[in-house]
Amino acid sequence: MQPAIEPGRLARAFRLVKLGLVERDGEDYRVAGNEEKSYPVSLTTDPQCYCGDSWHRGRRVVCKHVLAARLLAGDVGLLIQFGEHLARDERFAREAGLR
Ligand SMILES: [Zn+2]
Repeated sequence: MQPAIEPGRLARAFRLVKLGLVERDGEDYRVAGNEEKSYPVSLTTDPQCYCGDSWHRGRRVVCKHVLAARLLAGDVGLLIQFGEHLARDERFAREAGLR
């Protein structure tokens, strides 16, 4: 099963791309990080990234580095998922009378 994508991580991934911190490295990607100089990301290996965030409470999650690389690679499915998340958020807010 594919690990779940957390919307906050996806938002941070958008920011990494926007700031130009993600670049192609041959077939792979390189994402600038906070603690390490940069994180190598491969979309064809398992795991795709070796950062500490790839494991959360003993289970694998899709980290912002992998999401950023997928965005740069033009992963339309990811954009659709994010759009659906925003629409769901909007609907909940409307139903709760917040908008
Ligand atoms: Zn990572």
